Amino acid sequence: IYDEISIKSLIRPVPDFPRPGVIFRDITPLFQSPRILRLVADSFIQRYVETDFSHIGAMDARGFLIGSIIAYELNKPLILFRKQGKLPADVLSEGYQTEYGEALLEVHSDSLCEGDKVLIFDDLIATGGTLMAAARLVRRMGASVFEAAAIIDLPELGGSQRLEDAGIPTFSLTAFS
Ligand code: 5GP
Repeated sequence: IYDEISIKSLIRPVPDFPRPGVIFRDITPLFQSPRILRLVADSFIQRYVETDFSHIGAMDARGFLIGSIIAYELNKPLILFRKQGKLPADVLSEGYQTEYGEALLEVHSDSLCEGDKVLIFDDLIATGGTLMAAARLVRRMGASVFEAAAIIDLPELGGSQRLEDAGIPTFSLTAFS
């Protein structure tokens, strides 16, 4: 199923977004191609179909796009990790640094129980700050992270290494240096 060249060809580099010197990796073209979207989804489904995890956790907002497809297909409960102020009920919060500044990540405080094993999803791993904050939220509820998964890794920003160093296995479909 997995075809890294096709996936890569539909990730558009946008120079100087959101600020000068940054090349933003735009995934919207992937979602405009039903064939490639299916390839992306099927690659994750093939990896996780026979693995033993209890929940999918998806990161606001592009992580929702792929996380919800995988949760539907693998019939797993879906937990939303959201930017500050979006979730209506009681939340747990964790602060983190992004590539571009500081932010808070939140999750409903009753969304996981002790012993749950969560596969966390985002579109891209840069510094790893977002997924590390999600991992802290997961652990605060007594659950554990099964793996952190993304479409794209930017290894030079060190995020996937940071996650691995924190004991979190990391998987991505492609990488840009
Ligand atoms: P990190 O927390 O790993 O530093 O940054 C990853 C987060 O920032 C992800 O939620 C991702 O959506 C967003 N992000 C940062 N840089 C990019 C980029 O170049 N392309 C995309 N699609 N998302 C990015």
